[in-house]
Amino acid sequence: MGKVTGFLEYERLEEGYEPVQLRLKNWNEFVVALNAEQAKQQGARCMDCGTPFCNSGCPVNNIIPDFNDLVFRGTPADWREAIDVLHQTNNFPEFTGRVCPAPCEAACTLNVNDYAVGIKSIEHAIIDRAWAEGWVKAEPAAMTTGKRVAVVGSGPAGLAAAQQLARAGHAVTVFEKNGRIGGLLRYGIPDFKMEKSHIDRRVEQMRSEGVVFRTGVLVGEMPASSKVTNDAKEIVSAEQLKAEFDAIVLTGGAEASRDLPVPGRDLDGVHFAMEFLPQQNKVVAGDKLKGQIMATGKHVIVIGGGDTGSDCVGTSNRHGAASVTQFELMPMPPEQEDKPLVWPYWPVKLRTSSSHEEGCERTFAIATKEFMAGTGKDKGRVVGLKTVQVQWVGGKMSEVAGTGKEWKADLVLLAMGFVSPVPAVLEAFGVEKDGRGNAKAHTEAAGGYKTSVDKVFAAGDMRRGQSLVVWAIREGRQAARAVDEYLMGGSALPR
Ligand SMILES: Cc1cc2nc3c(=O)[nH]c(=O)nc-3n(C[C@H](O)[C@H](O)[C@H](O)COP(=O)(O)OP(=O)(O)OC[C@H]3O[C@@H](n4cnc5c(N)ncnc54)[C@H](O)[C@@H]3O)c2cc1C
Ligand code: SF4
Repeated sequence: MGKVTGFLEYERLEEGYEPVQLRLKNWNEFVVALNAEQAKQQGARCMDCGTPFCNSGCPVNNIIPDFNDLVFRGTPADWREAIDVLHQTNNFPEFTGRVCPAPCEAACTLNVNDYAVGIKSIEHAIIDRAWAEGWVKAEPAAMTTGKRVAVVGSGPAGLAAAQQLARAGHAVTVFEKNGRIGGLLRYGIPDFKMEKSHIDRRVEQMRSEGVVFRTGVLVGEMPASSKVTNDAKEIVSAEQLKAEFDAIVLTGGAEASRDLPVPGRDLDGVHFAMEFLPQQNKVVAGDKLKGQIMATGKHVIVIGGGDTGSDCVGTSNRHGAASVTQFELMPMPPEQEDKPLVWPYWPVKLRTSSSHEEGCERTFAIATKEFMAGTGKDKGRVVGLKTVQVQWVGGKMSEVAGTGKEWKADLVLLAMGFVSPVPAVLEAFGVEKDGRGNAKAHTEAAGGYKTSVDKVFAAGDMRRGQSLVVWAIREGRQAARAVDEYLMGGSALPR
């Protein structure tokens, strides 16, 4: 602990945002990272707790008190060491330093009666400086094992698994059905939250470490009816992969969107969020798309109050929507959590994202009953929807009589989460599913991450269901260790 009285002297400082009017004009990141002096003060707020709850609250168990202290000390050598500490537990801090909701901060001891240490902003500052200084380098394995591993899916879980396995000396090939690497980091999360150059830089690093990337290659099957982004020009069968590789890691995500099968669902203008968002990310990347779904000049209703919905709000506002409204089925949570009751766990509370601040009306405890069709030139198109307010008693939902309402809407985006992986992908491998349709594999002890099929492992959203980038990185790392143990009879990779 560098400064004993730091938490008494300095207040928490949030990262800055560019003004709304400016950031709505482009797709760039708009968060202004802490400078070295600001990061030093924020690092000084850390109390170096004997039992650092931040460390267990973080899914990758980042060694937070150590890098906080190094940033407080502040010499170039300390910053250099800080990135080494961060990389011990997290392959991609530039991803989590930007998009992680920071469960570590909810768990921080200072959060009990003060504002948590700004751990995420310190992480962000460390990794950005490390890249700028040229401290992030390829780490090719000292020797090769002669074993071949296929990773199916290039989201954060697949990338973390691939990097760990390559560093353990295995020959790793990543198969990705889409045109670019990155999974939801690439085609779900908008550029204004995370620019894609961060992924490209890591892909180059991993290539230098020996990882082979094959994009536009679908492994197994993907029915067109799934409405999942699929740019594949080539198909490789599960049997082919099993014959060619010594182990396979399935990290295909949970891509099956939750639908809203009410009357009018098939009208033009009603889309899954994951039809809308990937198109915009492709356009930002320079692709030319025919018939892009645009929110320009439209009254947009986003159904679903989570991260995906919030990204639809930010994207619609950048398109120049006439209005953006977001519906949430659950009642509005409290603005402030009951800290003694919930700390150190993740609290349910009202979260207002930067996208909400850019312009959005939010409505809670509301259910959609019907999408309304237009007439004349709008025949076959959605022009509005009918809703009712709901109440929740004892975990059961019921409609509130007399609260029916009609809303104008030219574009409706369904952002109600994801139910499971696309079943056909798991079925192609004959992998047993759990009750929710995810790949069935436990994570503890021997045999962790192994599916019901010999030499086939699963990790990330494909195993645990819809989750977070940081959980995907954790699972990718742990699955890599499990695969290494399976192939070599032991592993020096960290768990
Ligand atoms: C819009 C949106 C915003 C989000 N925002 C955040 C956020 O701010 N913070 C956060 O922590 N989390 C966020 N999440 C969640 C987070 O992105 C995911 O939990 C995480 O990306 C899961 O990683 P993964 O590697 O398991 O799978 P994914 O990222 O889903 O990657 C799976 C990859 O596998 C590929 N694939 C699937 N099947 C095949 C096949 N058969 N053959 C070849 N390739 C295949 C897919 O094309 C995809 O590229 C968001 C999710 C969405 C949808
Ligand atoms: S819980 Fe908070 S104050 Fe304690 S070590 Fe972690 S970051 Fe520092």
